[in-house]
Amino acid sequence: MNTSSKTLLKNYGLKVTANRLTILEMMKSVGHAVSQNDLKLMLNNSLDKVTVYRTLKTFQKAGIIHEILDGSVQVKYALCDISKCNADAHIHFKCNLCEKTFCLNSIKIPNISLPNGFMVSKQFVSFQGKCQGCS
Ligand SMILES: [Zn+2]
Ligand SMILES: [Zn+2]
Repeated sequence: MNTSSKTLLKNYGLKVTANRLTILEMMKSVGHAVSQNDLKLMLNNSLDKVTVYRTLKTFQKAGIIHEILDGSVQVKYALCDISKCNADAHIHFKCNLCEKTFCLNSIKIPNISLPNGFMVSKQFVSFQGKCQGCS
């Protein structure tokens, strides 16, 4: 497991550190989006808030993870699909029962034409309902 996470960090030009590996492994294993707080709890508070925050920001900047605004109080993060982060291109789904947020990587956000003078820098399309696991 560690080998692939190490390779992933290296591929994205990041230095391999124990904290980065821990957070990356955790995000890989859960299979849904997590907030900074979720991560901290999942790691039994073994890493402090600042470390988790900085690591997430580093991952985000590098394109390993993307942020998700799904209507929750906290921003969530999920691993990016394949090798390139196309966070803007796919939709997200938040389950109202288990409160997990999933990347629906295969469903792309359709192109929307905006009125003159409007320019998009970020876009978030998120649906809510009941997930596969809760159905
Ligand atoms: Zn669910
Ligand atoms: Zn996503």
